[in-house]
Amino acid sequence: MKQALTFLNPERYFIAFILFIGYVGIGFINIQQAHLSPGHLAVIWLPAGIGLLMALEIGPAAFIFIFFASFILNTPTYYYINTPSNTHPLITSLLVGIGTALIDVWQAYMAAKAWQFFLTKHHRSPLQKPTDLPYFWGKICFIPALFSMALTHTLLSLSSIISTQDGFSNIQQMFMLIMGDTAGLFIVAPIYASWKSSAFKYRIRPAIPYFFALILIIALGFLLYSYLMMLILPILLLIAIRFRLAGTSLALLIVFMLSMIGTTHHIGPFFTPSEPLSFLNLQLFLFSIGLTLHYLALLQELLSHSHLQLETEVTLRTEALAAANQRLEELVTTDELTGVANRREWQRRCEEAIIYARRYQQPLSILLIDIDHFKNVNDQHGHLAGDLTLKELCRVCTAELRATDSFARWGGEEFVLLLPGTTQVEAILAGNKLRIAVENQALVEYHEQKIRITISVGVAMLEDNDSSLDHLLNRADQAMYAAKAAGRNQVQCAISSTAFNH
Ligand code: GH3
Ligand code: MG
Ligand code: MG
Repeated sequence: MKQALTFLNPERYFIAFILFIGYVGIGFINIQQAHLSPGHLAVIWLPAGIGLLMALEIGPAAFIFIFFASFILNTPTYYYINTPSNTHPLITSLLVGIGTALIDVWQAYMAAKAWQFFLTKHHRSPLQKPTDLPYFWGKICFIPALFSMALTHTLLSLSSIISTQDGFSNIQQMFMLIMGDTAGLFIVAPIYASWKSSAFKYRIRPAIPYFFALILIIALGFLLYSYLMMLILPILLLIAIRFRLAGTSLALLIVFMLSMIGTTHHIGPFFTPSEPLSFLNLQLFLFSIGLTLHYLALLQELLSHSHLQLETEVTLRTEALAAANQRLEELVTTDELTGVANRREWQRRCEEAIIYARRYQQPLSILLIDIDHFKNVNDQHGHLAGDLTLKELCRVCTAELRATDSFARWGGEEFVLLLPGTTQVEAILAGNKLRIAVENQALVEYHEQKIRITISVGVAMLEDNDSSLDHLLNRADQAMYAAKAAGRNQVQCAISSTAFNH
């Protein structure tokens, strides 16, 4: 014992103790309430499920607790139900008590092993998806109960503790033991699984009124009119849909326990004077609602999980699409090299601004900017240096602009500027501000050489007889060529022939 206890983390002593008490206490109540008549075996043996829970929760040390709990529970029971043919009832009960306690340990071990196997294989605990259910019902509940209870039954009959009586055959008794333990695992394991998932607390509290409704209907069914029991089906359905496995597992516990207690008191729809039939009725009812509801609860879990997953997926894709759209918009509206607006975007803004200016009788001017002797930059320093110079020009110009101004690359080394609400005189001032800024600030250092540039600017203000943007641009272009012709690094305007030299 000492060696095995080293498996147990000291923090788990308390939980191990609570579970031990739980095993013995619930087992004791189970012995009192789950027998169709005194001296018979339990319809549902909840300690079978608690054994699995202990093995999963506290590890190998649990098997020692299970052994002692089972021994404490079983030995007096065996002593009490000993058939008169036993000459040494105390010794027989003690020996069979030890034997069955070992078998209960083996059963818990088999169930826990099946549980762990699922965990290792799927990297999650069972009872999360409807497809987990055949494994759960078969490998975790039925198989361990089948092997262990077949052995227990052999031990009990060989030691003459139980014998064929009251119409029960040996096979019926073995079946009863197997089904009782299967039901115990079947009821407790889902409670444990949903208790382990964080959803347990917030799904149990709102389910409480539904539990009360169940209790009320079952009580009325047992006391007044058996067929009222059918009303529990829609309530169980609602519980499965709304409170999933957490609500369902507790609702099943309530239904199982109440149906069993009622039947053991010889009332309700499952009781018949034939005990094997009463037992069968109960088991048929319990397993059919149990299997259906487990399935429904997990199906609902899967549905809402898929729904959530779909929503997340849609959100992610919408975000990706929005980002792609934004990127596309940038590509369509900006110039790749310099990052300023491109010709198409500038034209669009210009068309809009012209409509606005005409509608509200406001001035509007445009500037056409061309770098002076740019071919020389390319020829002397290379195309790359030329590109850097274009970027530098944009940096200097955009720093000088207002938020309402639109600066764009027209193409090559030509740039355009839209100045809404700006008269020709103001536009000439703005053009000169840019020209001076470029002359003084635009500097590219490339291969230890300093590249400086100047610009020639053509200004045109929107007039009533400008039939289109092209017309306005044409006038700005002419003004720009006039600036080139007049010696470059200057601003010329389209209508007036005045040249402004700083
Ligand atoms: P001007 O003072 O008369 O304007 O002389 P210029 O040499 O600047 O003559 P022009 O305006 O006709 O020169 C355009 C040159 O700009 C031709 C081309 O080599 C260069 N260029 C156009 N686009 C680019 C570009 O994207 N990168 C580089 N590096 N050079 C470009
Ligand atoms: Mg040019
Ligand atoms: Mg040029």
